[in-house]
Amino acid sequence: MDRCLMYLRKSRLDTDYDEVSVEETLSRHRQILDRFCKDKNLNVVEVLEEVVSGESLAARPQMMRLLDMVSTGMYAGVVCMDIERLSRGSSMEAGYIMQIFQTNCCKIITPGKTYNLQNESDEQFTDMKFMFSRYELKTINKRLVRGRNQSASEGKFMGSIAPYGYRPYKLAGQKGNSLRIEPEEAKVVQMIFDMYGQQGMGYNAIAYALNDMHIPARKGAWGQTSIVNILTNEVYLGKIRWRREPVKKIVKDGFLAKTRILNDDYDLYDGLHEPIITEGQWDRVKAVQSKYSHISVHAERDLKNPFAGLLFCEKCGAIMKRYLPHPKESPTAWYRCPTRGCDCKIIKCEVVENSIHKAMGDWLENYILEIESDRQPKADPVATALEAVRGQLTQLQLQQENICEYLEKGVYTIDMFSKRNASLAKEIKQLQSTEADLLRQQGEGRQREQTTVQIIPTTQHILENYPTLTVKEKNRLWKLIMKKATVYRSRDDKLTVHIYPNLPK
Ligand SMILES: [Zn+2]
Repeated sequence: MDRCLMYLRKSRLDTDYDEVSVEETLSRHRQILDRFCKDKNLNVVEVLEEVVSGESLAARPQMMRLLDMVSTGMYAGVVCMDIERLSRGSSMEAGYIMQIFQTNCCKIITPGKTYNLQNESDEQFTDMKFMFSRYELKTINKRLVRGRNQSASEGKFMGSIAPYGYRPYKLAGQKGNSLRIEPEEAKVVQMIFDMYGQQGMGYNAIAYALNDMHIPARKGAWGQTSIVNILTNEVYLGKIRWRREPVKKIVKDGFLAKTRILNDDYDLYDGLHEPIITEGQWDRVKAVQSKYSHISVHAERDLKNPFAGLLFCEKCGAIMKRYLPHPKESPTAWYRCPTRGCDCKIIKCEVVENSIHKAMGDWLENYILEIESDRQPKADPVATALEAVRGQLTQLQLQQENICEYLEKGVYTIDMFSKRNASLAKEIKQLQSTEADLLRQQGEGRQREQTTVQIIPTTQHILENYPTLTVKEKNRLWKLIMKKATVYRSRDDKLTVHIYPNLPK
């Protein structure tokens, strides 16, 4: 058997037994699991015992170690009392933990059940997958890499891609990276700060101006987001920005209902790199931004587009861009086809969202009807064939018994028996292989049916709870139930929307 780990942790539930101490609980669990592993022949190479019963991942050092070990991909399974032992009390982090197990093909082995997160048809996994979609994995990831805090406080650059205007370089004689100024880009950064802070240009106007001047952007063309990102990044002041625990939990009916990232809650350290702009330039930009305080600058960094990665122009196939005009021009968000020359007109985001929501609802209704009519007793060719094959098999087996009897009674000679038996055996073997084929086909059919039906509750959930979902949740759920959607608004304002539900082939 492959290498396994054992994880022991006293959970809050155990405190209901009061008197029992943490050590006693752990040693009791240890005994149970030791016996279980012996029975199942599991090769446990290391036991991790969590004595602190912490709520968050950071307060569970053994769990952090466990995740590090699982991430090496060297362990086939983790043995624990129950699956809650891994995730309980930190439902926020459960999704993240499960993700690590899944990507490293590590099973969760409990005396009650073994969870193979690779196995899509495992219904437990389906529940968990649904759960994952609701968690802010990235946020948790940041908390996990707490060790990097130290480097940030030393003013080192922690990212993988340097901000526009800089290039990363390896620090000589010590660990870590810093940034050096890229002169051409630095001029553009200063220009952006002046356009906004002094010339009163909006984010979009600046983006258009830069594109007009043919100043190359990092990726594609300049857009509102890239301008906002530059105008809000303290890196240009020579600082290193480091976020800390930007999570807010709202518990509703005992469930974690919403999570929100508070982006303005982060640490700033003096960087090892040179600033590009002056404090004066920064302050002028801040002053203008606070005038438009009704648009949250930080909120720009949160996901705003519920169809991110899903919505395409029906005419040219380009991915539709969401954009927000300067508040002076229009208060609503729009989708726009970015292709030059494509005649798809801009469409209000709200209109697209309502149309897709409605289209999905209509589709679901028809789909449920379709499945129900499918369920009507109907000739199943595989089942019919299987029945026939099994009938023939029984016949042949009877004949085989008969010839044995004939041989005993002296009706058949040994030679006759051998010939007859050989031909019967050959026929039986052929039929058995046909039977196996048919059974496999039937199994595949059932599996397909299962994944097909699965889309229904997910779709119902998103449609019913739509107004209460965050944009991130909307996006994750749409991605679960939809391959893509296409929209097109013609010159004469005819809007077409097509949805592509995520059905198995
Ligand atoms: Zn287009």
